[in-house]
Amino acid sequence: MDIHFLSIGERPKNHFAILLVEDLKSPSEWTHYHDATMYAKNIPLVKPVTIHQSFHHSQLAVDTESVIFVRIKKSVLEEDSPMDKVGTELAQWCQNNNISYLSVLSPFSSEQTAQLVMAIHLSAYRFNHYRTKNIDKLHKIRKLNIIHTDPQKVRYHYKPLASIISGVNFCRDLVNEPANVLTPVNFARELYDALKPAGLVVEILDEAQMQELGMNSLLCVGQGSTCQSRMVIMQWQGGNPKDQPIALLGKGVCFDSGGISLKPPRNMHEMKFDMAGAAAVAGTMLSVAKQHLPVNIVGIVGLVENMPDGSAVKPGDVITSLSGQTIEVINTDAEGRLVLADLLWYTQDRFNPLHMIDLATLTGAVIAALGSEYAGIFSNDDELMNTLRTAGEESGEKVWPMPMGENYDKELESPIADMKNLGAPYAGHITAAQFLKRFVNNYSWCHIDIAGVAWSNKSIACCPKGATGFGVRLLSEYISQLTSSPDEKPGDTE
Ligand SMILES: [Zn+2]
Repeated sequence: MDIHFLSIGERPKNHFAILLVEDLKSPSEWTHYHDATMYAKNIPLVKPVTIHQSFHHSQLAVDTESVIFVRIKKSVLEEDSPMDKVGTELAQWCQNNNISYLSVLSPFSSEQTAQLVMAIHLSAYRFNHYRTKNIDKLHKIRKLNIIHTDPQKVRYHYKPLASIISGVNFCRDLVNEPANVLTPVNFARELYDALKPAGLVVEILDEAQMQELGMNSLLCVGQGSTCQSRMVIMQWQGGNPKDQPIALLGKGVCFDSGGISLKPPRNMHEMKFDMAGAAAVAGTMLSVAKQHLPVNIVGIVGLVENMPDGSAVKPGDVITSLSGQTIEVINTDAEGRLVLADLLWYTQDRFNPLHMIDLATLTGAVIAALGSEYAGIFSNDDELMNTLRTAGEESGEKVWPMPMGENYDKELESPIADMKNLGAPYAGHITAAQFLKRFVNNYSWCHIDIAGVAWSNKSIACCPKGATGFGVRLLSEYISQLTSSPDEKPGDTE
């Protein structure tokens, strides 16, 4: 999307959207649009965000294709993330009315206006790589002019958001790709090609290298697939070389059939999204690099395909993980934790991280508990958990804390190995987190189960149907909070 920031008085020729908040006086600089704002007062507010298009612009002292009045109820501004709501409504309306070139006159602060641009941009995302018919009918907003009393300041606030948008849409593209295209090997190559030019150090480990290290827990998941497994390590060294990095870990099961513990066929096609944790880590790494944040971050993802064949891992098999602990595989569909177990151990050993945060579409149980409103968050560090909760509220990607404890952990006891990979039928999201905790060696750690939020079957705020990109905005907000110092901000008194 081509975005321009213009001053009041510049005269765009395309469709012109005027944003008006109920009962609020428009800015004094808007004298030029006096007639139009008076006209808008007669449009009834039928919805919280009411959109009305007028072609009688000649009477309204503006010279554009059409004037689009966006009337906003005052109560909308009191809700969480109001700019997300307004931006989403506007983008969807443009989509439905085939508007590709839009100018927006914003009465909001420069910071809010920048967030509005992000919401419009994120809502306008579409994944159309595989359509060959009626391509000209596939509609997209191509050009957006933002008109504001202080366009320079809007541009300033938008700059970091543009990097986050790139990260979110990179993540969405990866998750939306079908599993025959995005195999573990191709996923690793994609990460190398996209992230190396952004300034990250990218390493790819193949199966022989992981075998050498003893990563049998990760490797056993891909045993039944004709696709080779990979691990990718992405490093951003923006901070002091001596500072311990923050480690972001992601589950990257490119397709999860369940393995020998095969899933039922209904909705199995959606299991291409089981790598959304890895994609969110990759998207965050891109966003951090594009912003040149002064911090050390390492992103580590385990990429595998979980399939059943004669060489697949079987229920009852015992494997020895990188940590040396043995695992009895009770259910081959509880494979994400097997991947993460080795990633956690590897990360601690090699990077001595300040915090480890893992993201995974790990359990159906978290969906039963929280639906698609919140991701479940588990941690051994209350301060880290609270920081992430705040980042969740700020970014609109919300997380909710879940309990852990010894009695849940006991459910993982195995009669023949150090542990089994599945607990009792209930609270599967918690026993999964307990399993991961057994591979955390006195480090500050947080696990985010994104199974309910990584994919949406309907369009939601800032997001069309499909991959949501969940995690990129949350982690980007978390990292930018770590790095922002008060004197770096401009004197914004709005
Ligand atoms: Zn599974």
